Amino acid sequence: MRTERVGERLRASVALVFVAIAMALAMGRPGTALAAETAATNVPDANGAISGFLGTSETVEGWTAPDGRQLTAYYLNVGQGDSELVVLPDGETMLIDASTADQGAGIVDYLSALGVTRIDHMVVTHGDADHVGGMSRVLDSVQTGDIWMPSASVSDTKTCMGFLQDVDAHGMQINDAVAGSVIASGDGFSVEVLSPSANATADSTNDASAEVLVRYGVTSFLFTGDASTQETDACEPDHVDVLKVGHHGSKTSTDPTLARQLTPEISVIECGAGNQYGFPTEQALDALRAVGSAVYCTADNGTVQVTTDGATIAASCDVAGTVEAGAETKTSVPTLASEASAIASANAAAAPAAADAATAPAAPVTTEQVAAAPAAEPEATAPAAEPAAVPADDAGDDETVYITDSGKKYHAAGCRYLKHSSHPISKSQAQAEGYQPCSVCNP
Ligand SMILES: [Zn+2]
Ligand SMILES: [Zn+2]
Repeated sequence: MRTERVGERLRASVALVFVAIAMALAMGRPGTALAAETAATNVPDANGAISGFLGTSETVEGWTAPDGRQLTAYYLNVGQGDSELVVLPDGETMLIDASTADQGAGIVDYLSALGVTRIDHMVVTHGDADHVGGMSRVLDSVQTGDIWMPSASVSDTKTCMGFLQDVDAHGMQINDAVAGSVIASGDGFSVEVLSPSANATADSTNDASAEVLVRYGVTSFLFTGDASTQETDACEPDHVDVLKVGHHGSKTSTDPTLARQLTPEISVIECGAGNQYGFPTEQALDALRAVGSAVYCTADNGTVQVTTDGATIAASCDVAGTVEAGAETKTSVPTLASEASAIASANAAAAPAAADAATAPAAPVTTEQVAAAPAAEPEATAPAAEPAAVPADDAGDDETVYITDSGKKYHAAGCRYLKHSSHPISKSQAQAEGYQPCSVCNP
């Protein structure tokens, strides 16, 4: 089967890549000053959007950040999909996922606005279109160091295959991301893969998601991709400070047991405003808030930024506001593209002062700031039902395709066969109902 063959190829390439990495390390590579550059971009955006701040106040004995270095994670506002940028304390960058193909250009613009000219570590959690879709655009536009993806999560879809071909075309290879893989490490920090296990044969691409734990000082950030609660449970995770909530806030990825295990101070959900899946679900929000977590969601809050010096954590977002379940109540927030241009113009205006801003320490976290965090009371709305038509495993990962009144094929938007009738449907649903892909538009 095609998927297995690709998986074998991925595995076979791992040894070669390790050799390449060892050589690169031996040769040394000039460091970058990204941490400083990106710190300077933490300015109010052109729309006058406010930042809500929130901090944890762990008392830390004996931890001092080397040279006051910070780690920043950006949870990008990329519609119905995931993408996170992590700027590590040594200035190296890691991009985890790149949402759907139509978000690729916006992500590239955002990286450029932040002054990020190189992705040192590209991580694809799994082969679904809402995670890998924009990655080819990034790979084509931004210098990339190494690439990580679980071979078990490769899917036989046009989008995923297209990415693998693009990696090939760039003469690059993919490191198999499995439990125990160390993507990066340095003074006081590490980036480690917790899941899937090396011999995993997951039932779904979601459950083969790479789950990545980033530690700096005494702080920890967990990125879960679309893994279900069972998969995250199986990692036997401890408390984490910051959680990228699994699967866009679906009820299959967050439950009270997992929330109690992780007790995140800050939870970030990435999903699209008005998404058709009812993300984030009331169940996930309730479970997180029940353990006292502040909850951010890109659909409500825009891009969310979390910064730590290894001891204290501060979160900010583009739009303050309480996260509510479901799609119906969503109003639109600034798109990633408008955020990128806002950052670019703010940087241009602030250019002479940038050096000062870059070295300024993060604002101290106070109880006032904690109080300014999004309100934690669950809304008294009825639980949002996820549409029954979409299998839970695939919800949120599907491309939308179109069917006609009488045809037996499904089509990409704009196909000439859609002239007379056209009804949107998720690709998995179309396939489940026996529709075949159109050979003209090749959806
Ligand atoms: Zn997925
Ligand atoms: Zn997804």
